[in-house]
Amino acid sequence: MATQPATQPKTNIWAVAQQQFDTAAERLHLDQGLRSVLRVPKRELTVNFPVTMDDGRVEVFTGYRVHHNVSRGPAKGGVRYHQQVDLDEVRALAMWMTWKCAVVNVPFGGGKGGVIVDPRGLSMHELEGLTRRFTTEISPLIGPDRDIPAPDVNTNAQVMAWMMDTYSMHHGYTISGVVTGKPLAIGGSEGRADATGRGIIFCAQRAAQHIGLDFAGATVAVQGFGNVGEAAARLAHEAGAKLIAVVDVNGGAYSRDGLDPALLKRHLQETGSTEGTPGSEPITNAELIGLDCDILIVAALENQVRGDNADSIRAKILAEGANGPTTPEADAILDEKGVLVIPDILCNAGGVVVSYFEWVQDMQSFFWTEDRINESLAQIMGVAFDAVQATKEQQEVDMRMAAYMVALGRVAEATRLRGLYP
Ligand code: NAD
Repeated sequence: MATQPATQPKTNIWAVAQQQFDTAAERLHLDQGLRSVLRVPKRELTVNFPVTMDDGRVEVFTGYRVHHNVSRGPAKGGVRYHQQVDLDEVRALAMWMTWKCAVVNVPFGGGKGGVIVDPRGLSMHELEGLTRRFTTEISPLIGPDRDIPAPDVNTNAQVMAWMMDTYSMHHGYTISGVVTGKPLAIGGSEGRADATGRGIIFCAQRAAQHIGLDFAGATVAVQGFGNVGEAAARLAHEAGAKLIAVVDVNGGAYSRDGLDPALLKRHLQETGSTEGTPGSEPITNAELIGLDCDILIVAALENQVRGDNADSIRAKILAEGANGPTTPEADAILDEKGVLVIPDILCNAGGVVVSYFEWVQDMQSFFWTEDRINESLAQIMGVAFDAVQATKEQQEVDMRMAAYMVALGRVAEATRLRGLYP
């Protein structure tokens, strides 16, 4: 059976992000002036730029870079290549980055970028041309002290290498700290590629402890098998959990007896999908969401758990590897059902934590071992998880609201302390 696309008619995730903000601001009794400041992005850039395609045609692409808030440090956030990117999506993702950096207490603000393109239709040469020209167009906003992009959906270490090289060429010398998620050979960090997945598994283990579930032996299903989903699936497997299902954009694989992440990855590389991996049966997105499992990790795109399918979830823990995978309507249903939701701004923050380490290492030209990276990551994620858990208990709210309250409190304090210029 072919996998149905996980993407639905788009709900406006910017409206969702603002709704989440309004609810948390209300609970925190945030001053109205501060609310008006934090409710909207600080600056937004739209660029239309030409790329010469391999057949000689010139195509014009549209891209965006948005800074939501930079009170706590330079803007930080990924660059996404996807046919459904729009300005509202980039605004929402930039705002979530502000909260995410604040939850884990790294000294960055929130930013995000994207280009409207399906990169599956591009050659490597076209992808490089698009990346270099997009970087040039957004260069007034980026820089190691201003805004530091990183990989997101359909971008990777190679794309970051081209961005870093383009920016460096403009300046005449190497500026490795302008992006994170680079290859190791040019100033990348040990542990960055797996960092988001590692943070997710760390949070899932802590959440399992809280509900008395033994992580080793727990059954896990993963939506999305890219940067984030593949690492989360592999690290869950390494930690002793049983991976029973994964889906990607072209299909899915299921086995009650457990799947081998290495085999899934090889099959995906060879065929373009995890579907058909030896020893597995096909599974659809809808079936995966409603699968009988202990931990469901959503690591594909936003808007996957909604009012129309949240009730089908049978997992005890929903770990949000993706940004914005759950709508507010679904949140209410999950709360009612007693599903423990680990919110995106905490759950997938491992990536930005190790991006922070990468940036620090680049600025100092002094590189750490993978052990040091992973230990420091676990320490930061542990402190953040505990702060959110404590707020949850004190305020009697769910994990998402607790994470928002921690984050908004920190951003509001920084904004208040800096005062209004001029
Ligand atoms: P990616 O492009 O590497 O992987 C995305 C995965 O989702 C792929 O396996 C793809 O096949 C799958 N997918 C896409 N559309 C799908 C569909 N319609 N149905 C089922 N599967 C589908 O992207 P990524 O970097 O892994 O990002 C995934 C999510 O995690 C995004 O929401 C992103 O914003 C978030 N995130 C990424 C990072 C990071 O470090 N890369 C950090 C934090 C959050």
